[in-house]
Amino acid sequence: MLLPIRIWGDPILKKKAAAVDRLTPADKKLIQDMFETMDAADGAGLAAPQVGVSKRIFVFRIGDERHALINPKITLRSGEVEGEEGCLSIPGVQAKVKRAKRVVVSGRDQNNKPVTFELEDGEDMGRAATCVQHEIDHLDGVLYLERAEPKTISWLIEAVDDEGEDDIILRRVSRDDILAAYKARKFPPNVHVLDVLRERVER
Ligand code: ZN
Repeated sequence: MLLPIRIWGDPILKKKAAAVDRLTPADKKLIQDMFETMDAADGAGLAAPQVGVSKRIFVFRIGDERHALINPKITLRSGEVEGEEGCLSIPGVQAKVKRAKRVVVSGRDQNNKPVTFELEDGEDMGRAATCVQHEIDHLDGVLYLERAEPKTISWLIEAVDDEGEDDIILRRVSRDDILAAYKARKFPPNVHVLDVLRERVER
């Protein structure tokens, strides 16, 4: 079942999520629905508060594999990497964020088994280390734009280049202006955003 994604400005995204004591059938169903919702929105990860559930659960990808982590904890961080991030709860926007390049993260999987992942951003795993840090931030009520370099925060705008080819250009914007657009339920013209997320704002 596809779950509606909460958009920035929704108070649940600012809340610290609660630890999961016992994994219930409802939690397992939630995880399946989160996998489906992540796939439908073409996301790299999705945290439970983004679908309105304030619990310490998130799903993410390493290459083609999908994983769930419950009560995740990062036990080691090393190195530094700066890359573009986006967020399903902040559609149409991207910005640069500095993260640890390598992390070790432990938690429980959807079968309640203890799991540990050693993740490193790079060719093998894509940006799994960055993704896990972004998702755990969601569980703590922190959005990536709060960590982003302010000068890099941009709308993704659909444009046509000199050769008449479709192109995406970045247009700098402030955090306040993004929030104002979502509150007004209207994107600026030509913002590049998936229909399923556009509907969440312009409903
Ligand atoms: Zn996010």
